[in-house]
Amino acid sequence: MLDCAIIGGGPAGLTAGLYATRGGLKNVTLFEMGMPGGQITGSSEIENYPGFFDHEKTGMDFMNTWQEQCFHFGLKHEMKRVERVAKTGEHFTITLEGGEHVEALTVITCTGSTPRRAGFNGEDEFFGKGVSTCATCDGFFYKDKPVTVLGGGDTALEEAYYLSNICSDVYVVHRRDEFRAAPPTLERVKRKENIHLITDSVIEEAYGGMMGLDGVKIKNVKTGEITQMENSGLFVFVGHNVNNGVLKDENGEFICDVNDWGQVIVDLSMKTSLKGLFAAGDMRIEAPKQVVSAAGDGSIAALQVLSYIQELD
Ligand code: FAD
Ligand code: NAP
Repeated sequence: MLDCAIIGGGPAGLTAGLYATRGGLKNVTLFEMGMPGGQITGSSEIENYPGFFDHEKTGMDFMNTWQEQCFHFGLKHEMKRVERVAKTGEHFTITLEGGEHVEALTVITCTGSTPRRAGFNGEDEFFGKGVSTCATCDGFFYKDKPVTVLGGGDTALEEAYYLSNICSDVYVVHRRDEFRAAPPTLERVKRKENIHLITDSVIEEAYGGMMGLDGVKIKNVKTGEITQMENSGLFVFVGHNVNNGVLKDENGEFICDVNDWGQVIVDLSMKTSLKGLFAAGDMRIEAPKQVVSAAGDGSIAALQVLSYIQELD
């Protein structure tokens, strides 16, 4: 029986493992289907993690140093995909790919979320080279330069507003003439002089070269007219898929409370509605979707696991 099973080896999961093992738990396994590190390993640089300020280093370099430290105190890694978590009496049964079962007293799920892609030409080619899904991460790279934002939801408009305080101009491209975002958010955006709303339009193509994105071709879906706009930053906010599949039972029902968008509902201790089950990082409600906050969540969840097991004893 594991003291704690951690699912997902991004910043939240690795930090949870560090705190759980350094806090004295002997039997803790991190189930990560790939190499530990998480989403940030796909980033070319990270500028907003305090204590790490090296433009030459990639997200992969950054996370390599975490692994050595997080596995130092006895955390084990199984490179396996978790299919499902179920509560059986007082403990949990974790089903791994291939059908193997593992028992654990507590579980911390840290499987993250995946920003959706919009599907235009050049989106994948220039992802991380001008196309981004994170304004907090990458907005500063376009200081005093124009950028494009795609999407008409709350995230797109809130992030457009954030970018408008950094960038010279923000062109918000939305496929309809009505916005999904809350009316006060839309009004706030409309009042900002350097935000320009381009409605009934989609990104036809993102183009560029070896150095990255050079611009976008925007198509008006009503007239078919294509406008070319030269700017080197394009932010795509067309929704997120929360990686919450491990928390669904055989009938597809969630084993703990989630909100309408599938984000796991936790309290400030990262406790879910199911005793002994914790969730941390990008998959939880109100997640700022930053490495520093995912790591913070992981530490909180692990400290709660230590208290929970102490109480069981
Ligand atoms: P993740 O990092 O998403 O890790 C989840 C892990 O769970 C993954 O490794 C995945 O393989 C694993 N997993 C999922 N399902 C299963 C399963 N069923 N079984 C086993 N394993 C599973 N943040 C910043 O603070 N600064 C930045 O500059 C920055 N730049 C970014 C650039 C890019 C390109 C991207 C994509 C993100 C960036 N972020 C940045 C955001 C940051 O990476 C995330 O907020 C952070 O990684 C979230 O950590 P997490 O541990 O919650 O989840
Ligand atoms: P969302 O509400 O699903 O909005 C996604 C936007 O992207 C929509 O405008 C959609 O257009 C557009 N879109 C989707 N696929 C596209 C594609 N392939 N090409 C072009 N455009 C595409 O997602 P979100 O903004 O991330 O918000 C998710 C949830 O979190 C929402 O319920 C939101 O209210 C909530 N949220 C709340 C707050 C807040 O309360 N402060 C902040 C952020 C998010 P259509 O409108 O035409 O479908």
